[in-house]
Amino acid sequence: MTAKLIKGTEIREEILKEIEAEVKRIQEERGVVPGLVTILVGENPASVSYVTAKIKTAKALGFKEIQDNQPETTSEEDLLALVDKYNKDDTIHGILVQLPLPKHIDEKKVLNAIDPDKDVDGFHPVNVGRLMIGGSEVKFPPCTPAGIQEMIVRAGVETSGAEVVVVGRSNIVGKPIANMLLQKGPGANATVTVVHTRTKDLAAHCKRADILIVAAGVPGLVKPEWIKPGACVIDVGVNRVGEKISEKTGKKIAILKGDVDFDAAKEIAGWITPVPGGVGPMTITMLMKNTLNSLKFKLGLM
Ligand code: NAP
Repeated sequence: MTAKLIKGTEIREEILKEIEAEVKRIQEERGVVPGLVTILVGENPASVSYVTAKIKTAKALGFKEIQDNQPETTSEEDLLALVDKYNKDDTIHGILVQLPLPKHIDEKKVLNAIDPDKDVDGFHPVNVGRLMIGGSEVKFPPCTPAGIQEMIVRAGVETSGAEVVVVGRSNIVGKPIANMLLQKGPGANATVTVVHTRTKDLAAHCKRADILIVAAGVPGLVKPEWIKPGACVIDVGVNRVGEKISEKTGKKIAILKGDVDFDAAKEIAGWITPVPGGVGPMTITMLMKNTLNSLKFKLGLM
């Protein structure tokens, strides 16, 4: 059996086209566009490349976008004042503070200072609570889990009544995706088990899964014999396992591997996501969707 590939790169293009069309329509009808600000403190190269990619995508979609980069020495007080400024700015609908922040700044304090109605990352306790309640309460599902759910639904995988096993219980992937899939409603209604390092028999749980979502950060953790034939396997793991020279650019690039032994798993699974090119591209896409939705909430369109 060869699994169908669920390609995040293709689904991303579909969703971005939908967002772009909606932005155009809202601009024509209401004269406003979604506004996104990224706040970065310091010059961590990975963080710089993340915010640059987010802003580039926002710009291409016709959003108002601000890349607000602050020096490493910025005080907590100044950063809180900056967040407050964007909380009060009516043209900004999404505020994203890029993590990690320098050690002298309390991350929790800063994230909790973002207006929950502009918290497009979905990490504010108010939005975590809204996600837990589910249904129409949900405003901003966190971006990576939202991307995972979108991939499952768009691939045509049935979630209702499915046995879902989530490997990993982090606040950014494991817990929210488990929560989202057990809600009552379309693209959910699953029976969900969450496993972690203290789980007694990881293999036995994985073997039951109709949908297996792996977010552990351990390369090749899930063995092919743990996969139920025909299951949908979503590999969230992104692990750097070495370096190679890019054929395109001639520069050194990281060799990335997921948490699942892809080559063997694809012969057993019904659907599988590749790494790279699977879940990865969905995160920024869903950030854009959350920012558009923030404007739509404000305009009473949702
Ligand atoms: P995390 O905060 O490190 O959490 C990892 C989770 O996996 C923990 O709950 C841990 O259990 C569990 N775990 C680790 N080793 C395990 C093992 N041997 N058996 C069972 N459970 C195990 O990681 P994260 O932030 O959720 O990220 C997970 C992976 O997804 C990483 O590779 C990350 O790079 C990737 N990721 C990708 C995207 C994207 O593509 N857009 C976004 C986010 C994350 P304990 O709680 O017991 O320690």
